[in-house]
Amino acid sequence: MKTATATIALSALQHNLQRVKQLAPNSKILVIVKANAYGHGMERVAEAVQPQADGYGVARLAEALVLRAQGIEKPILLLEGFFSADDLPHLAQQNIETVIHSEYQLQALESAVLDRKIKVWLKIDSGMHRLGVELPQVAEFYRRLQACVNVQPQINFVSHFSRAEELACGYSEKQLHNFNQAVGNKSAERSLAASNGILFWPESHFDWVRPGIIFYGISPTNEHLATEYGLQPAMTLSSSLIAVRELVRGEPVGYGGAWVSQQATKIGVIALGYGDGYPRDVPSGTPVLINGQRVPIVGKVSMDMITVDLGADSTAQVGDEVIFWGEDPQGNALPIEEVARHVGVISYELVTKITPRVIMEYR
Ligand SMILES: *Cc1c(COP(=O)(O)O)cnc(C)c1O
Repeated sequence: MKTATATIALSALQHNLQRVKQLAPNSKILVIVKANAYGHGMERVAEAVQPQADGYGVARLAEALVLRAQGIEKPILLLEGFFSADDLPHLAQQNIETVIHSEYQLQALESAVLDRKIKVWLKIDSGMHRLGVELPQVAEFYRRLQACVNVQPQINFVSHFSRAEELACGYSEKQLHNFNQAVGNKSAERSLAASNGILFWPESHFDWVRPGIIFYGISPTNEHLATEYGLQPAMTLSSSLIAVRELVRGEPVGYGGAWVSQQATKIGVIALGYGDGYPRDVPSGTPVLINGQRVPIVGKVSMDMITVDLGADSTAQVGDEVIFWGEDPQGNALPIEEVARHVGVISYELVTKITPRVIMEYR
């Protein structure tokens, strides 16, 4: 019997990059594969889209080194830059590009002794106030980077939206304006748009777009489904029923007796739990898909198991497949956005929490 399994449709990933290309036809694509490709398996994902990717974005040097070790030759960018001066020789040797957002990084670059120059993307704080150089300091950072012997002459500019899914709040216009101010008339490649920017802000596409969540076929917000944007969900998370129990009315189920049957019913037990990365804090009623039907989770999620209320008349049997999100072989879908809405999280969190115990299958 199959236990917790994430099935990844590589063709969906390829389709989603085509869709990004359609939305941003004049931009190069920096495919974001940090956090194990949002739980989809970084190495397999990176390899599958190598012909379409113009580069890859990661959050840690270790991730970049894995990609290089597997033979990826496209540009790789550290989205938050390097964290320690000791990282710089690796960047130089492995041709890994870096964001620069702070003085300590600039100083490390200025005092390093390296065999090769490093490609730098200057991070601008256009309004998110998380990482980035503030507008009044941009000219000085740029000047010092240009003067630095360890830095390749062509410096890119990058920034990040904080409210790009809010189409009418006016803040993205402000960030766009600040970013354009910062770049001025410098001959530099620019990158501002992540998923929301790609979908909603064509004027932010510039030279490079940085698709993360939409690349995986997931909507950036729970209000819309990825399929509404012409995207194909890549991941299906599934497992099997390992027990079907008949209960009379008034029986508590699971730890703490948190849920009590209101009538005679059948309870299904599924081999998947928070040890696989499914959230423990899901409200009763969160759906799973069994034989094409939505069935509610009841009681507390355990480490290795989840209980569902199959209903008294259910014909579900031990061994039947259970879909937590994605699609069953007959094409019945349970969108991850619907699950995220029930759980009260964003889908990003659901996929990145998948643990190494989950079997990864690619097709
Ligand atoms: C994670 C990340 C992205 C991708 O964001 P999505 O919303 O998943 O598209 C893009 N740019 C930066 C700097 C990031 O950290």
